Amino acid sequence: MAQALFSDTIVALSTPPGAGALAIVRLSGPAAVDLTAAVFSKKNLTQAAGHTLHYGTLRDPDSGSIVDEVVVALYRAPRSFTREDVVEISCHGSDYVVRQVLALLLRRGARLAEAGEFTKRAFLNGAMDLAQAEAVADLIAADSALSHRVALNQLRGGFSQELRELRGRLIKFAALLELELDFGEEDVEFADRTGLAQLLAEVRAVVAGLLRSFELGNVIKNGITAVIAGRPNAGKSTLLNALLREERAIVSAIPGTTRDFIEDEVSIDGLRFRFVDTAGLRDDTADEVEAIGVARTRERVSKAALLLYLFDLTQMSPEEVQAEIRELTQGLDLPVMAVGNKTDLATPDAQAAFASAFRIPDAAGPETPLVFLAAGQGQGLEGLQEALVRQVRGSALENTASATIVTNVRHARALEAAAAHLAAVQAGLDTGRGTELLAADLRHALAALGEITGEISSEDLLTSIFTQFCIGK
Ligand code: GDP
Ligand code: ZN
Repeated sequence: MAQALFSDTIVALSTPPGAGALAIVRLSGPAAVDLTAAVFSKKNLTQAAGHTLHYGTLRDPDSGSIVDEVVVALYRAPRSFTREDVVEISCHGSDYVVRQVLALLLRRGARLAEAGEFTKRAFLNGAMDLAQAEAVADLIAADSALSHRVALNQLRGGFSQELRELRGRLIKFAALLELELDFGEEDVEFADRTGLAQLLAEVRAVVAGLLRSFELGNVIKNGITAVIAGRPNAGKSTLLNALLREERAIVSAIPGTTRDFIEDEVSIDGLRFRFVDTAGLRDDTADEVEAIGVARTRERVSKAALLLYLFDLTQMSPEEVQAEIRELTQGLDLPVMAVGNKTDLATPDAQAAFASAFRIPDAAGPETPLVFLAAGQGQGLEGLQEALVRQVRGSALENTASATIVTNVRHARALEAAAAHLAAVQAGLDTGRGTELLAADLRHALAALGEITGEISSEDLLTSIFTQFCIGK
């Protein structure tokens, strides 16, 4: 095995602090096993093979007192998370016990790990690349089925593999350029310039696809903010309650009672939505408090990813609804969904009038989709949820040819830089710029891609990434 990079042994609590049935204290480094053996009842631990479990007691050798009954899991380098010797001590999950165990190991010579230091070691020891290391943090934070799947794919190297292929193609391109440089004569050109242009176009398309996937990636990781707006008494608070299935917003029959934004998150089919209930919109702005609410509603709509315009089917005409949607979204590029509420009170004629003026979500067409429901009765919610998911997935996914979804801002920035350098290569090819200049742009593009997986990385970058982790990760 290669020379170990780190000579010290780090220790930290790897489970969340606070009382629990169990807590796990993790050690990594060359002395991980010896340190543990020195305070563990089974002295032959130092001889034990990797991937084994050992039950025993931890004892303070100075005082002789027993600290806890524990199970020690032992991993031998390089077959461990960090590729170093790793010990995981499962002890009882009280803060007191954990403090005792940590103190015991620190006194024997372990050092308290910094934030993200286990994962950083895993990266520096070559167990994973940088994109995979970052996926560890994402996986820990994942709180929906889809964000979990994306993080897991990244952790397992799906994204890294795609980047490697991309870099491979660019290196092939660079090799062709170098070949031309070697000949050095102006009249010696690539045997196949069109093949070269095609290779570049392919690479640029992949980079562009990855960048577009960031739109969806961002939605998956951070959720999508949907503002529920509409006139007072349309049923906004009722709808929010129904969606959240709990009484968070105040429902009232007096128009204009919802003055503050009430918001919460719901996961629908693996996507995280953040719904914001707003004060009612109305024409009469004489009421000062209400007027402030309207202005703030417009501001919130401008920051949202989706507008749910909710209206009472018995109170408005299709023309009025369309006029209010236009007014709310003026100057904004924002998807809108019209939601007709109180189907239990509406006449079939009224519904039919709306259905022909709007689009029902399944039908193709660029118009605003329309959903009918009775929020107060809890009817039609599933239709709304399906339409919401279709709206988000449809708009983001149809642009995403790549199986990989970029969720990390750092990765997106690097891809943007790569795309810009590749565009410069393209421009250079088109205008017949010198081969040296093309090669330089290409190197920049390769460097930008290399930053994502950490093939090219600086200490500053690593510090900024790993300090975002918690201690113990
Ligand atoms: P908001 O001002 O838009 O937030 O409206 P609310 O959610 O406070 O609802 C206004 C009134 O409409 C309340 O009395 C609700 O119970 C009622 N409401 C909401 N949804 C429905 C529905 O689907 N059918 C009927 N009949 N009443 C509803
Ligand atoms: Zn309300």
